[in-house]
Amino acid sequence: MNAPILRTKNELLAFINKLDSRQDLGLVPTMGALHNGHKSLIQASIQDNPHTIVSIFVNPTQFAPNEDLSTYPRSLEQDYALCDELGVSAVFAPSVEEMYPSAQGAGALCDSALDEVRLLPPKSMGYVLEGFARPTHFAGVLQVVLKLFMLTRANNAYFGQKDAQQLLLIKRMVRDLCLPICIHGCPIVRDEFGLALSSRNAYLSDEERVQALRLHQALESIKQAYNQGITAAKELQNIGIKVLNNMDIEYLEIIDENLALIEDLRQGGGACIVVLVVRVGRVRLLDNLWLEPN
Ligand code: AMP
Repeated sequence: MNAPILRTKNELLAFINKLDSRQDLGLVPTMGALHNGHKSLIQASIQDNPHTIVSIFVNPTQFAPNEDLSTYPRSLEQDYALCDELGVSAVFAPSVEEMYPSAQGAGALCDSALDEVRLLPPKSMGYVLEGFARPTHFAGVLQVVLKLFMLTRANNAYFGQKDAQQLLLIKRMVRDLCLPICIHGCPIVRDEFGLALSSRNAYLSDEERVQALRLHQALESIKQAYNQGITAAKELQNIGIKVLNNMDIEYLEIIDENLALIEDLRQGGGACIVVLVVRVGRVRLLDNLWLEPN
C-alpha cells in the first residue's frame, strides 16, 4: 500500500507542498462507497495528470434533515484499497469538524448547525429539478466542492454526467467565480443490465432492481426516436413515459446546459440532456441521457 490517507487539512497541505507544482494535479471528489462509476473518474484523472487525489467525504451540508446522512453507505477500507490499487497519489478523508470549523462542538451536523459563509447557486439552476425536491442540496454541494478546490489547488477535477445538474452547476461556479480549475464530465457507468451505478442502489430489493432497469430502457427509446428524427420534446417525453408505464416518475425533462427546458431539440446549439428521476421503493433513482445536436 503506497498512497497515504490524509485526514486533516494540514496533512493535505503538507502532501501537496511536496508535489512538483509544475505538474498537473487531478481531483476526484466522492462520498465513498466507491463503485465502477467512481473508478472511471479516477482512471480518467490518472490518465490526464501525474498526480491524483481522491476525496472521500460524506458531506452533511448537502443532506436535508430528513435524508439519509446517517445511513449513507460507508466503506473507507475498501475504498482506500481500490484507490491504492488504481495508483492514486493520496486519499483525502477528513472528518466533518476538519471540513467545517463551525461544526466544532456543534453536535448536530446538519445544515442548520453550520453557520458559515455560504455560496448560493443561481436561482435558475439550483432550485429546479433536483433542487426543487432538495432546495438546500446544491448550496451544500458547492460549499464542499469549493473547499476541496481551494484545499487541493487541483488543476483538473472529474465529475460524473450521472449527476448532470451537479456537473452543470459546478461548471457554472467555476465560470462565475473565475476558479483556476478545469472541470471534466465523465460518462455514466452502468451495470451489465443498464442500471446506472449509484451508491444508493444498495437500498434496492431484488425486485426493485429489476423495475429500475426501465429507466435506462426509457432513455434508450428516447435516443432511438431522436436518432430517427423526432425532435419535439413532448413527443420524446411521451415515448419515455410509455416505457416507464406505471412507475412513480418525479420528472422527465429535456434541458440545455443552463437547465432551461427545451421544447424542440433543433433549437440551440449545445448539448440537450434528458433528465429523469423515478421513485422505486424508497429510492429516488436518477438517470439521464446526453444528446449531442444531430
Ligand atoms: P458521489 O460519491 O455519489 O458523490 O459521486 C462522486 C462522483 O462520482 C460524482 O461526480 C458522480 O457524478 C460520479 N458518479 C456516481 N455514479 C456514477 C456513474 N454511474 N457513472 C459515472 N460517474 C458516477
